[in-house]
Amino acid sequence: MFANLSDRLTASFKQLRGKGRLSEADIDATVSEIRRALLEADVALPVVREFAANVRERAKGAEVSQALNPGQQVVKIVNAELVEILGGESRDLNFAKHPPTVIMLAGLQGSGKTTLAGKLGLWLKDQGHTPLLVAADLQRPGAVDQLQIVGERAGVPVWAPEPGSGVGDPITVARSGVQQAHDKQHSVVIVDTAGRLGVDAEMMQQAVDVRDATDPDEILFVLDAMIGQDAVTTAQSFADGVGFSGVVLSKLDGDARGGAALSVRGVTGKPVLFASVGEKLTDFERFHPDRMASRILDMGDMLTLIEQAERTFDAAEAEKMAAKISGDGDFTLQDFLGQLAQLKKMGSMKSMLGMLPGMGQMRDQLENFDEREIDRVEAIVNSMTPAEREQPKLLNGSRRQRIARGSGTTVSDVNSLMERFEQAKTMMRQMATSGGKGGMPGMGM
Ligand code: GDP
Repeated sequence: MFANLSDRLTASFKQLRGKGRLSEADIDATVSEIRRALLEADVALPVVREFAANVRERAKGAEVSQALNPGQQVVKIVNAELVEILGGESRDLNFAKHPPTVIMLAGLQGSGKTTLAGKLGLWLKDQGHTPLLVAADLQRPGAVDQLQIVGERAGVPVWAPEPGSGVGDPITVARSGVQQAHDKQHSVVIVDTAGRLGVDAEMMQQAVDVRDATDPDEILFVLDAMIGQDAVTTAQSFADGVGFSGVVLSKLDGDARGGAALSVRGVTGKPVLFASVGEKLTDFERFHPDRMASRILDMGDMLTLIEQAERTFDAAEAEKMAAKISGDGDFTLQDFLGQLAQLKKMGSMKSMLGMLPGMGQMRDQLENFDEREIDRVEAIVNSMTPAEREQPKLLNGSRRQRIARGSGTTVSDVNSLMERFEQAKTMMRQMATSGGKGGMPGMGM
């Protein structure tokens, strides 16, 4: 996410390393670097101009700080400005005083609306809401089925026209969906609507009609971040055509540049509420401008990582694990398997690792990380007998051959897993006994 921009910005700060104070010339040079970095990231020109002017002004007026060197001062200023253009405070969903809260999704075809309906439904359900998804996209072939599949996976009910009922009118479906939510006391209704490949008048009229029929508390515009600055033009058309109260950035995982994400708030004046960061239902998070700025500046995003972990990990399970690791019990391959399953629930490894501070420098390795590696490890452990999982000592040559065959891997895969498992066990013991004083890698500035 935003890899190119991160690289460019951190490179421009490095030039300030070792300087005693910021001269006018230093500031000018750094600001033009930042300007170029933003333009290359495909950020809208007016946003770039304002950003550069603000950074320049703040840097010139910056007090001589005892605590920070000039490089750090500029990072601090750029961070503050990034938070600003990303929207400042994070914004919550507006819930209706009298449920159900109606959330309408709008956006182009393929922007990720249907996927988002499932993600948002699951997220709301986890927070104790009782959402209903409404399939009012009757345009795209398969959209209704897709919503039904997504709803099933999320464990959230879906309101859709009966197949063959001849109901071909999205406004009727949307209206009856909201009525159903009233009758069945759902606390939130999420209305998926039809998009087109490009903005057209008929689609916009349909969105307006659905809006008028359902009187939504929130209209969320779903914006495909991978499209870059062009997406912002589309956002403007939707703002003028149907209007919206907030933005969801989708496919942020595939966005190396960041142009759409950094421009949309400035161009439309509307806040970003959520980000979609992958194809899995759990690849979804609230959008926090301050945390996003930290990620862009490669300062890591530990808070989001911790929240994701809290969402997925069972507290009792975690405590049991901690006790085992610190030596009260034996950490076995069976426990390891359980941990892998929980890790997988947290979302893709790549996006999780990317949230650690300083990962920018390891980006290439991260890009090459093969998510299937976890599946292979799971297959190997699954091919072991319960006794072998408890007592790895049992694993002699012929057992290892059997396991390799059973898991579709090779004996050397099995050997290498066992080696890594023993190393990890030793490392965890050491960390546990030293009281976890290892510390996190810093920013290196
Ligand atoms: P809709 O036409 O607006 O309903 O779009 P869909 O929900 O069908 O999404 C279009 C495609 O984008 C699908 O293949 C999704 O799997 C994919 N997609 C949606 N959200 C994300 C995301 O956050 N990241 C990635 N990588 N793919 C996504």
